[in-house]
Amino acid sequence: MAQNSNIEWTHDTFNPWWGCVKVSPACDHCYAERFSNRWVKPTLWGSNAPRRFFGDKHWQQPVRWNKAALKAGERRRVFCASMADVFEDRSDLVSYRARLFEIIAETSQLDWLLLTKRPENITRMLPCPLPRNAWLGTTAENQVAWDIRLPLLLAVPAAVRFVSAEPLLGPITMNGNIPDWLIVGGECGPGARPIESAWVESLCEQCSRDKVPFFFKQWGGVHKKKKGRELGGRTWDAIPVATSINRCLPSSPLE
Ligand code: SF4
Repeated sequence: MAQNSNIEWTHDTFNPWWGCVKVSPACDHCYAERFSNRWVKPTLWGSNAPRRFFGDKHWQQPVRWNKAALKAGERRRVFCASMADVFEDRSDLVSYRARLFEIIAETSQLDWLLLTKRPENITRMLPCPLPRNAWLGTTAENQVAWDIRLPLLLAVPAAVRFVSAEPLLGPITMNGNIPDWLIVGGECGPGARPIESAWVESLCEQCSRDKVPFFFKQWGGVHKKKKGRELGGRTWDAIPVATSINRCLPSSPLE
């Protein structure tokens, strides 16, 4: 599936900038920070650190992906962002976020998966109307994050509202906050915190009961390939189709 990405549930990955601030236990072993620190000095992580921005060539990539998707006669997914949080609140990000939403609107053959750990900022940072091909997601690594972030996410009238429970750090009960898609995964890499099969099985059962497409990404660990991604003897690769979710999107300001 992935063409320019190692992530199982997307075709491509796009970053409007690099850099972030840790906000959550899920951030403790942030892969993006580790990766960035190998190449960029001084660090791009922290509220006083600069962010890294890119020129026009970088911003042309989604236009090319859109053309390729059109030529192939298929929709493709773009994960945004793997090296930043699109809804981080900083004045120097405002114009880049605006440019991102312009590109999203221009590339209608792509479904953009915007994943954030700051759903409290989504509503005031979205353009209006919100493009139909912008899917909005939040990370929920444990019950506390689920109970706080899901109501915030579900208040946003996006075509698809999804959750990434990765790294899954504890058991989660959906508590009536039902997303359109759930992705679950264990933590990978050095210092990976262990995932319990009972947590994954429970989420899989809850999704089956509430008819939520369920995607199990991996068990994780230091060597993620060793543990694989099977649950109950099979893989779980469900991905929603936006047109099957009949949600009315506003054409007037969201606030
Ligand atoms: S929000 Fe994402 S990119 Fe930012 S520190 Fe946390 S894990 Fe890293």
